[in-house]
Amino acid sequence: MSASPLNCTLDLEAPGKQFGVLQLPRSSNQSGWSTLWIPIVSVANGEGPTALVLGGVHGDEPEGQIAALNLARELQPEQVSGRVVVIPCLSPEASRAYTRLWPSGANLNRSFPGSPTGPPDEQLAHYLSTELFPLADVVVDVHSGGRTGLCLPWSEMHWVEDAEQRRRMADGMLAWNADWCCVYIDIAGTGLLVGEAERQGKIVVSTELGGGGHVTAAIHRLARSGLANVLRHFGMLEGEVETRDSLGLPPQTLLMATEADNYLLAPVSGLWETLVDLGQRVDAGEVVGRMHSLERPELDPEPVVARTDGVVCVIRAIATTDQGDNVVVVAREADRSELD
Ligand SMILES: [Zn+2]
Repeated sequence: MSASPLNCTLDLEAPGKQFGVLQLPRSSNQSGWSTLWIPIVSVANGEGPTALVLGGVHGDEPEGQIAALNLARELQPEQVSGRVVVIPCLSPEASRAYTRLWPSGANLNRSFPGSPTGPPDEQLAHYLSTELFPLADVVVDVHSGGRTGLCLPWSEMHWVEDAEQRRRMADGMLAWNADWCCVYIDIAGTGLLVGEAERQGKIVVSTELGGGGHVTAAIHRLARSGLANVLRHFGMLEGEVETRDSLGLPPQTLLMATEADNYLLAPVSGLWETLVDLGQRVDAGEVVGRMHSLERPELDPEPVVARTDGVVCVIRAIATTDQGDNVVVVAREADRSELD
């Protein structure tokens, strides 16, 4: 595969703290010869592992972007053993528009492993896959439900087949110290950033921190504290690792959303009415919400029925809904030993 067309202005092998940019070629009606600048920060100090911290894969998820900006600004080399590379926002144009997708319609989280000769999102994905993931021991990718989804704030992981990788990912997921953790599957396509990093054997830690177009102070605190504790847990950041116990909190609830039946889809288009709240326990067969037809007010609303027992962990945040959109996720409560 040919070399990346991206230029990184940092020397990622150099010690100390550096601010730079990734320059992604683009050509637009406003400027025929242009580059999209994506800020990147490296903080390196001596021997040790490398963490790659990523925010803003999706532009309508500010939680991770702000936590990564705070980390990048505050982190000093003397606090680090090894290297922490931070890209606060991988999709700056989408962030500016406060949209999930790039203005081109690309979903960066479906662009992996990418291509050096594809459209710009694939070129960026290719650079991450071939230049940045190989440097990293740990990849942290902070997401939320964005504008359209409201998630219980959780840290998450895919089920990966390699038992040692799975164990280390589970420990990283738990180190976020959120009240909830979730093991999930991809129901809406392939080409995810985390999937490529996992394929390369990396320890991948991800999150869905709330969402719904609104970020509370508690969520900002959780994004910031969880990110720092994950870096402490893996040894890149100085300081005592915090646990749920040391924080005076009860054990986390581990959720499994690894079956297609966990993901409930709208049977018809219309206005979505939820009948459940986040964290609520439901039984299989229970009506969790209804789809209303604005065009046919004489019709009874179409029920959406839980197919499994479990905990409501995602609710669609906006009412206007198309047939096939995910409206609720019901996850099964699980024990940590299931991940061994
Ligand atoms: Zn996302």
